[in-house]
Amino acid sequence: MAKTHNPLAGFFRTPKLYTKLPSQGKFYTDDVVDMPESGELAVFPMTAKDEVVLKNPDALLNGEAVAHVIMSCVPAVKNPRKMLSNDIETLLVAIQGASRGDNVEVSGKCPVCGEICTSTASVETALETMSILEETYSFHTDSGLEITLRPFTYESTIKAGIANFQSTRSLQSISAIEDEMEQLKAFNESFVRIAQMNFDLVVDSVASVAGKVDGEEFTVYDRNQIKEFLENCETSIGRNIEKQIENINKIGVNKRIQLECDKHGPFEQDIGFDPVNFFTAS
Ligand SMILES: [Zn+2]
Repeated sequence: MAKTHNPLAGFFRTPKLYTKLPSQGKFYTDDVVDMPESGELAVFPMTAKDEVVLKNPDALLNGEAVAHVIMSCVPAVKNPRKMLSNDIETLLVAIQGASRGDNVEVSGKCPVCGEICTSTASVETALETMSILEETYSFHTDSGLEITLRPFTYESTIKAGIANFQSTRSLQSISAIEDEMEQLKAFNESFVRIAQMNFDLVVDSVASVAGKVDGEEFTVYDRNQIKEFLENCETSIGRNIEKQIENINKIGVNKRIQLECDKHGPFEQDIGFDPVNFFTAS
């Protein structure tokens, strides 16, 4: 049976802006992002329900809130968890612009006096000046291996966020332990857990390791083999991977903004993309 035509249909929200992605969609299948030929995704303003979802702390922590809002406001996105974090951040900035206008108030603490200084940033400018992700990122080790990295997925970022939250909470409960030996033991356990989580993220970000044995070339994609290699290789390789990941994660919308203190002049600060407040000083 045909639905009754709603005379209000013409008043539903319409896209407020279009944005490209730092990945340009090149890593995605259609069931992750249905990329239009123009490479630009339509971005709708948030609905009242989206705003409510963003206020649920549990949903924010496990990534459900951001996933919901992105699917609501950017219909071309089918599976936000499989997207790269660089793209998710970009879409959050775009949704902020579509929902609350181009000018966004940003603030940060003067590093000298601690005074809160505010300024405005333009969403449109941030989107227009974004940097683009390369197809692959790789480097060579001294031993002649080529390590290829991939950017973090949003799923990994959520994992890291939850681990951070848990470690903060466990540090709080550790400080309440009275027995010093027990406290030290709990602290060590917490430290080991965080180190393990960081290690897992490093393993996740290695796409492949290639090299040559007796003139025969090989490329390893198997996660377990890569993990075993990383557990047994020199620490310099792990450090190098972490450094590269840090740089890859910076690609996308520029997170560095300039603020000015009345007394101490200009200073630069990174802004975070906290989905609750969007632009917040981190
Ligand atoms: Zn100052």
